[in-house]
Amino acid sequence: MISTTCTVCPHCGWPDGGEPFQVLSRHTTATGRTEWTRCGCGSLQVRVVDGGGMRVVSRSGPASGSAPARSGTASR
Ligand SMILES: [Zn+2]
Repeated sequence: MISTTCTVCPHCGWPDGGEPFQVLSRHTTATGRTEWTRCGCGSLQVRVVDGGGMRVVSRSGPASGSAPARSGTASR
């Protein structure tokens, strides 16, 4: 797993503290909110925002060309 301690995207250098390239969805939680964002390089990020500020808790690799949300077509 990629370390999330750095404050910039390891793939393209986009600052985590800056404006997200694209906000995919935003969910309110008991302690704040969770945001799913996409970086300029296509990397998905899960950000948690609470009283202590924002932090990136999960980060995927850059876009590899396969959409994870695809469904229905099983290749056989
Ligand atoms: Zn990036």
